[in-house]
Amino acid sequence: MAQKILIVEDEVNIAELLHLYLEKEGYDIQIAPDGGKAVELFRSFSPDLVLLDIMLPVMDGWSVLKKIRAESKTPVIMLTAKGETSDKVTGLEEGADDYIVKPFETKEVLARIHAVLRRTVGEEENGGEKKLTFDKLTINLDAYELLVDGKRVDTPPKELELLYHLASSPNRVFTRNQLLDEVWGFDYFGDSRTVDVHIKRLREKLEDVSGKWSLKTVWGVGYKFEVTGQ
Ligand code: CA
Repeated sequence: MAQKILIVEDEVNIAELLHLYLEKEGYDIQIAPDGGKAVELFRSFSPDLVLLDIMLPVMDGWSVLKKIRAESKTPVIMLTAKGETSDKVTGLEEGADDYIVKPFETKEVLARIHAVLRRTVGEEENGGEKKLTFDKLTINLDAYELLVDGKRVDTPPKELELLYHLASSPNRVFTRNQLLDEVWGFDYFGDSRTVDVHIKRLREKLEDVSGKWSLKTVWGVGYKFEVTGQ
């Protein structure tokens, strides 16, 4: 059965462009031209993924995202305006899975959709084992072991947990606050510099090991574990 995508966008040209393009790629598409309709269609259409614009009539994208997150983990990709870094940060912290900056290329949208859908399916299939494997890298959170190019590298627990967290959602951008909350915990008494310091130490261990993945800084937003090859 075709996967379903809900496009929430009030600009008719953009909505129609996405509609035609994604339908040709084999997706089942519905369009919501405002936030109210978006919530309605989210419930009746049960999409596998939502493309969500921020500036919308009736109810903005933030409110729609909150309503979606209150009842499901369905992947959401936000469509943000150019240069609105704060939108990206807010979106990721409110539970969006990714963001795309307008104006975008339809090719890029499709790549993001594929990445997000692959990631969410992968999570379900993982079966509880806390071990991730990439080219020349094994992160084992059951044994608290990091293997780089076949060799065991001594790594403090938090560093390993941070790397595991990033690598378990390849190419997803995390903000520093998210990483603090999700790796150190809400009650941790520290600031985002902690994350930077741990990333720096991880990079020293992982530098030039493989060309197929890397720990990337996303300026003004946060970090991601980027995977470029299999
Ligand atoms: Ca809009």
